[in-house]
Amino acid sequence: MSSTILVIEDEPAIQELIAVNLSFAGHKVLRAYDAEQADTLIRAELPDLILLDWMLPGISGLAFARRLRNEERTRQVPVIMLTAKGAEQDKLDGLEAGADDYITKPFSPKELMARIKAVLRRRAPQLTDDLTEVAGLALDPSSHRLTGNGQPLNIGPTEFRLLHFFMTHAERVFSRSQLLDQVWGDHVFVEERTVDVHIRRLRKALEPSGHDKHIETVRGSGYRFTNQVQ
Ligand code: CA
Repeated sequence: MSSTILVIEDEPAIQELIAVNLSFAGHKVLRAYDAEQADTLIRAELPDLILLDWMLPGISGLAFARRLRNEERTRQVPVIMLTAKGAEQDKLDGLEAGADDYITKPFSPKELMARIKAVLRRRAPQLTDDLTEVAGLALDPSSHRLTGNGQPLNIGPTEFRLLHFFMTHAERVFSRSQLLDQVWGDHVFVEERTVDVHIRRLRKALEPSGHDKHIETVRGSGYRFTNQVQ
């Protein structure tokens, strides 16, 4: 599944190599040469993941990683540090600053893609195209297919994304505004009652196999996908 990835790297050849590989894998790539440019891009669109070079002109990658973690807006965005350094202490500093992983230069595109996938799987499973199965529901993002107890179910694209998010975050309650952020995307103006409309459609799509009961309304809070149906 396509994600938006911000690459912050001041060496043009490396930035280009990374960007080409990410685009080829179907991701949307945002590029910055330093922290200042990265800030501007992040203000316009929150990326799903950030690749951050350690040695940058101006604010260092390490300092920028700390800042990303301290700011409300960027706190949850996974960060992979790119480092030319092999020293154990630098890796520890990076992880301590809030990076999710690091990769040492030079790296192969294959290795980079594997790291990205692993971090997304851990931090944002709804962005990967792994088959998800919960309580007899099977959702396959790569083929866009959904089955309930083996029976194919018809579902619209928004309801599909909503269900994918729910299934990868089962038992947790999400408010309408959280669902808008996570499923509709950042900086998209949609009224909160739109969520209710899509929840209704989602339940209808799940009715044929009885899985509509897994989408619970939590009064005063929002919605939840549950494995346990009363
Ligand atoms: Ca650099």
